[in-house]
Formats: sequence, C-alpha cells, structure tokens
Amino acid sequence: MTTTLTLVQGDITRQSADAIVNAANSSLLGGGGVDGAIHRRGGPAILEECRRLRASRYGKGLPTGQAVATTAGDLDARWVIHTVGPVFSATEDHSALLASCYRESLRVADELGARTVAFPAVSTGVYRWPMDDAARIALETVRAAVTAVEEVTFVLFDDRAHAAFAARLR
Ligand code: ADP
Repeated sequence: MTTTLTLVQGDITRQSADAIVNAANSSLLGGGGVDGAIHRRGGPAILEECRRLRASRYGKGLPTGQAVATTAGDLDARWVIHTVGPVFSATEDHSALLASCYRESLRVADELGARTVAFPAVSTGVYRWPMDDAARIALETVRAAVTAVEEVTFVLFDDRAHAAFAARLR
C-alpha cells in the first residue's frame, strides 16, 4: 500500500482528516502558532484531555520527537495527534528528532486506525527550523514510513512554506 502525499496551502484547523497533527510543545498545555489555533478552534475538550495526559502518562510532559493522540474536539477530525518538534540548533543536529515526529505521529495514526492525516510543517515556526530542510526531512520520512495511512496532507501556512515543500516533492 502506498501513501499519497498531498500539499495544500492554508490553515490546518480548517482541514478535514481522520487525524490532524499538532506542532505542540512538551507541556501539552497550549502555545502559539498551530498549537494555539488548534486549541482555539477545537475547543476545551482537547485541553482537558491534554491535562489528563499530564496528570497520568506524561507527568513531565511529552518528550521531543514523540506523539500522543487526543480527541479533536470541534475540529473536522476524529483525533489530534500532538507531537513535539525539536528547536532548531545550528551547532547540534536534531534532524533525527524532527524525523521522529513524523514517524511517531504515523505510528500513533496506525494504532488509531486513521487513514488520512494532516501535518503542519513541524518546528518551522517558533522552533526556527529552516523551511527547506524541514520540508526535506518531512517528505523523506513520510515517504520511507511503513504505514497503513492512505493519504498524508501537508498543510502549509504560507506561499514560502508551500513552495519549499513543492520543490522537494518533485
Ligand atoms: P513549532 O513550535 O513546531 O515551530 P509553530 O506552530 O510555531 O510550531 O509553527 C509551525 C509551522 O506552522 C510554521 O511554518 C507556521 O507558519 C505554521 N502555522 C502556524 N499556524 C498555522 C495554521 N493554523 N495552520 C497551518 N500551519 C500553521
């Protein structure tokens, strides 16, 4: 089974998919960028479940490179998969952790039985990962993944992000 990769430009909170991936931070308690938008549009049910995760499995927060699912609240999806991207560093190579975000999110999607998954460009906002390199890692990792997910859609917020992913997809 091959996974179809699709690029769209827009707001990931407007996307319909079985699972929408959140570029979360390890607190799981919300933040800016994609995270803020998901909690705003998804409503309080997502944060409630995140709080329960902090009170149980993830007392110290969700480690970088890992992924965990919650309800999608009012979003047009069944689940939100929260993953924590690495902060870009020019002196230390954290690429393996960024790749892990995509791989682990797809592993969680498989556990849930999700067939369509929407990803943002993890780590390219507040965490400053250069867009072209982030696109390379995202696409290589999803292409190499062994998964039952049928369609992965990258939802890129602006022209620049969309162009970077489009150049790497070709
Ligand atoms: P990180 O902390 O992992 O860097 P951010 O949420 O700050 O995550 O940014 C990740 C990427 O998502 C950035 O390229 C940013 O422009 C983009 N982005 C921000 N809001 C949205 C949104 N609503 N839908 C899709 N992408 C978004």
